[in-house]
Amino acid sequence: MFQNIRYALQRFMYGRNGADTLSWALIILGAVLCLVSSLTSSSLLYVVGYLPLMVALFRMYSRNLEKRHAENAKFCGFFTHLKDRQNRYFSCPNCAQTVRVPRGKGKINIRCPKCGRQFVKKT
Ligand SMILES: [Zn+2]
Repeated sequence: MFQNIRYALQRFMYGRNGADTLSWALIILGAVLCLVSSLTSSSLLYVVGYLPLMVALFRMYSRNLEKRHAENAKFCGFFTHLKDRQNRYFSCPNCAQTVRVPRGKGKINIRCPKCGRQFVKKT
């Protein structure tokens, strides 16, 4: 009985994105907003709290895997950039490639590894 439900669920989720890091973050954000809204009895916050939950559901059932993976990678990358205190991240003005350079070196000349364009940034 439970096996059948599991197989059916697996078949249903096949080819879909499923729960990735960004979806989980949205679910937690939505849950926190709903919790806060119930504490403050704010109906606006309650409605707003459902938005991230609906986006998370949409992402989990989405079949556009390429786009969802790109979104998730961007989201995870954003947090590794925040945590990284040793390096700074710049995007190339020519091709938008992200370039990592060591922090605290003053003004340096950065050469994009992808397109070779050079640009000066303060680290
Ligand atoms: Zn470039």
